Amino acid sequence: MLLIAALRQVLSPDVCKFYVTDCKDNVFFVNTQKSTEGMALSADNCCPMLHKHLFGKAPYRLDIGHQRHPSTMRICSIPKVLVILHRIRKHRMKPIIILAIESSCDDTSAAVIRDGILLSNVTASQRVHEEYGGVVPELASRAHQQNVLPVVDTALKRAGVDKSEISAIGFTRGPGLLGSLLVGTSFAKGLALSLGIPLVEVNHLQGHVLAHFVSEGKADERHPEFPFLCLLVSGGNSQIVLVRAWNDMQIIGQTIDDAAGEAFDKCAKVMGLPYPGGPWIDRLAKEGNPERFQFSKPNLQGYDYSFSGLKTSFLYFLRDNLRENPDFIEKNKADLCASLQKTVVDILMKKLRKAAKDLGINHVAVAGGVSANSALREAFVNYGKRYRAEVYIPPFSYTTDNAAMIAQAAYFKYQAGEFCPIDAVPFARTEL
Ligand code: ADP
Ligand code: MG
Repeated sequence: MLLIAALRQVLSPDVCKFYVTDCKDNVFFVNTQKSTEGMALSADNCCPMLHKHLFGKAPYRLDIGHQRHPSTMRICSIPKVLVILHRIRKHRMKPIIILAIESSCDDTSAAVIRDGILLSNVTASQRVHEEYGGVVPELASRAHQQNVLPVVDTALKRAGVDKSEISAIGFTRGPGLLGSLLVGTSFAKGLALSLGIPLVEVNHLQGHVLAHFVSEGKADERHPEFPFLCLLVSGGNSQIVLVRAWNDMQIIGQTIDDAAGEAFDKCAKVMGLPYPGGPWIDRLAKEGNPERFQFSKPNLQGYDYSFSGLKTSFLYFLRDNLRENPDFIEKNKADLCASLQKTVVDILMKKLRKAAKDLGINHVAVAGGVSANSALREAFVNYGKRYRAEVYIPPFSYTTDNAAMIAQAAYFKYQAGEFCPIDAVPFARTEL
């Protein structure tokens, strides 16, 4: 206690973000927050000369983030600890370089970010699922195993960064397919351990939202202001997220059944289009008439979505028409795609508008794989004009699963000292 009190006097938190929470037999337990579980960062790595300089032959280790209750702290030499903190601070003056790995579904991606500027973002998409009309989890994890090393290697090379320069590894811990997540998580852990650097876990959904803060260092970049609403639409999610800060998000509406991307993919499948069908529908819809066919829209209270009714009505509509005309799909493909796409976009925008109006928020963003859809992007632009709202549409490369967004989220967390233990296990399901 004496030590902590003395340290606080000498070091204000904004000068040095480290707190000594425990010390035992020349092992100092230093936390990046006052008392939270954190990460193991060997100071031997931060400052290799320290061991000798401070303790001669004495065993020395400095762990950051091992949870220790301050009451277990023993008093040790304050000057020594101050020297350690000074060295760590100097270490922190080096650029923050984060390697991030994303492997939640069927894209293996790695990205490198330096001091908040994205240096590289490399993704290997898995084509093995195409013939099955959907992602086969076991095949996905095997493909991740094959891809992860070359993808990480390429990301580092493109960034011009050597692995010895990395400050931390960010990784997607969930939600997603467990086998896929396991590959990325295990790889991240192995690399972090071998390099003696901390791990930063990222929630995949938060990553999608934070894709809006990815910076390539260009002058004309725009990033949302807090609070804003984010329409998060992907293969597995359709949510309206109230984003108060990078680490303060609340789902205020979500699908009660299928996700928007899932609806696109399933309807595409019944039309005989390849997987994933969303981009195909988008492409074909460009030639079609969006007013030609009407499909059912849900009538839910609040901000929740439902897409399973639309999927069923689309299916029955096709079945009925195919009975009379076996070429119905072929002859009307573009109009079917355009009408379906318009229905999905209308459903999405209606609830978003309601939420924005009720909450009085006029900064709105869209994220997730379906935000690549051209009609949805156009609807956002029109929304901005009509309601004088600030709209944020991500570049295409940050819409579907990518590690750039994971790197950005990890960068925020790194700065806040939010690290995760080496025994962190992936999770298949979670909220924001
Ligand atoms: P998840 O994280 O849930 O795996 P992603 O964020 O990778 O999903 O998004 C994949 C989903 O996005 C798929 O359902 C795909 O059909 C959909 N998608 C991608 N591009 C488009 C597009 N241009 N139009 C409509 N949907 C699209
Ligand atoms: Mg995703």
